[in-house]
Amino acid sequence: MTNKQSILIIEDEKNIGNYIETIVASNGYRALRAMSGTSGLSMCASHHPDLVLLDLGLPDMDGMEVLQRIRDFSNVPIIVISARTQEKEKVAALDGGADDYITKPFGSEEVLARICTAMRHHAQLDNAALQQTVYSRDGLVIDFDRRLVTLDGQPVHLTQIEYKLVSLLAKNAGRVLSYDSILKEIWGPFTDTDNQILRVNMANIRRKLEVNPAQPHYIFTEIGVGYRMLE
Ligand code: CA
Repeated sequence: MTNKQSILIIEDEKNIGNYIETIVASNGYRALRAMSGTSGLSMCASHHPDLVLLDLGLPDMDGMEVLQRIRDFSNVPIIVISARTQEKEKVAALDGGADDYITKPFGSEEVLARICTAMRHHAQLDNAALQQTVYSRDGLVIDFDRRLVTLDGQPVHLTQIEYKLVSLLAKNAGRVLSYDSILKEIWGPFTDTDNQILRVNMANIRRKLEVNPAQPHYIFTEIGVGYRMLE
């Protein structure tokens, strides 16, 4: 089988690397392994993997540096593996070009879901024909061409900013978007708008979309990092 998609696992902890390898290999992917940042970089350049799982805590160099160096020559989807729960690090990784992150410890379903999302999103970027024109999950339908939002068949009236926010998250469903990247996307690269405006808008959106805004079903908060919409 030479047409399997390959996943490069850059992780110095052998047990965790083995664990991830088992998960991806038993789900039809070819696993490549690197135990250091240096070997990860060279394998990435020579093997052109379809996706990279990158541990941030590596013995020879900072995972953030590995991320930046890969981004110098490749737009391969990168999922960062973070042992630390510090939100700052996750935000920095996302803003530094990572597609997503998972926090240790994680389960097999979570890894696979993140891999599928990152690969699909990447394919969509490459192929305009795959660009979705409708988001439809659990009664919530967003028609991007007609800019219409309905919930259980009833129209939802969103302000222009609210619509932009919801459609941005929906087009990236399953991926976490950092507060900063959302602010830049909606309000422009030179905005001095802060997270507070975003929170206010999100509260309004949830009041319109969610049965229980305190326990959202469609748009989740990744505390300290950003938002992720139901895939
Ligand atoms: Ca490590």
